[in-house]
Amino acid sequence: MISVEQAEQIIRSEIRQYGTERVPFNEALGRVLAEDIIADRDLPPYDRVTMDGIAINYAAFENGIRTYKIKGTQAAGDNPIEVNTINECVEIMTGCAMPQSTDTVIRYEDVDIANGQAFIKVAAIRQGQSIHPRGRDRKLGETIITANQTVTSVIVGMAATVGATELVVKRMPRTLIVSTGDELVEVDRSPSPHQIRRSNVYSIQAALDPYCLYTTLLHLPDNLHIVEEKISASLLHFDVILLSGGVSEGKYDYLPEALEELQVKKLFHKVQQRPGKPFWFGKHANGTLIFAFPGNPVSTFMCLYRYFLPWLETSLGSRSTKHLYAILGEDFNFTPPLQYFLQVKVNLADNGELIAAPIEGNGSGDFANLSDANAFMELPLEETNFKMGTPYRIWPFKQIIN
Ligand code: AMP
Ligand code: MG
Repeated sequence: MISVEQAEQIIRSEIRQYGTERVPFNEALGRVLAEDIIADRDLPPYDRVTMDGIAINYAAFENGIRTYKIKGTQAAGDNPIEVNTINECVEIMTGCAMPQSTDTVIRYEDVDIANGQAFIKVAAIRQGQSIHPRGRDRKLGETIITANQTVTSVIVGMAATVGATELVVKRMPRTLIVSTGDELVEVDRSPSPHQIRRSNVYSIQAALDPYCLYTTLLHLPDNLHIVEEKISASLLHFDVILLSGGVSEGKYDYLPEALEELQVKKLFHKVQQRPGKPFWFGKHANGTLIFAFPGNPVSTFMCLYRYFLPWLETSLGSRSTKHLYAILGEDFNFTPPLQYFLQVKVNLADNGELIAAPIEGNGSGDFANLSDANAFMELPLEETNFKMGTPYRIWPFKQIIN
């Protein structure tokens, strides 16, 4: 049986690239950028007025002029109104392009306006005040967003700013999610006393949704012939197949046998971990990858976060190399020779530390427990007594700070 690190290594050696595609910028949220976003103009593109008020030439103020004739009123979007003499000013609004003949804005609060004239009532002003100068933020041609980032709401806004109507993003793997087992029924059915609803495929699908990984679902009975037939057909149409159930030692756990029959190369079967020990991973000659997770909901879920999402993010080029740690909030013992993924509730303490409280639950079938926890804490294989106050790596599956 291989270790968690070995399993991770084998999966990492199977990262894939699925090319790129263009999508409308406002449909790109969650996708991974495949090219930089470049400023098509200076940012801001003109000397931008940042206060409603009047625009004057500072030299006039320096010469002691306090009362200015209002040449006109400029609204945002108007062509600049130029003054003819330094005794004139322009009433000007936030967002306007500064007239070339003026260089300083005085906000309305510091001005009295009457009879077509503006009187500056403050003693001191600063040349160039209340102006956001052209190109101060970014210059034309400068990269404003680098590739290999997940598109956020900010990036959508930046794309809009620079007129990038389409963004080139990484193409996503065509992904099939499969449940297996004769005890499983569809969600909208009333299960008989010996049946359960097939929840795993939906939790997987939901976990992948933020990545815009739109998936196809399939259910397979515990029947070797049907499993072979359906997986064989699926190998042609999908880049990735995520299975849950049917990989353990049970009499009806047909997947390992079926996959072998279909020439899917087993890269490993069984990992020294709890939950998720029977995890099976392999690849077909055409490149399709098969992640076959044990069916217990917590096992499936843990394997998805610990193995599949890192594979996906690495393949897309968006994965951070940083690890997240939290401090164990109480002593915890685990003696089996398995790497334990403890369910924890991570909280942000007042001093800014992340503290993880164990929420053990009732084993890998206890999916309800996951609704109280927000992360798995990966406890090192070599140890059995885990001390309060020690930092260990965590794998969040929910937002920790909210
Ligand atoms: P298996 O790995 O097929 O032995 O399944 C282990 C346990 O997980 C069994 O109790 C199954 O009923 C349960 N299970 C398998 N697939 C699902 C699923 N899609 N949703 C919920 N439970 C499942
Ligand atoms: Mg089963």
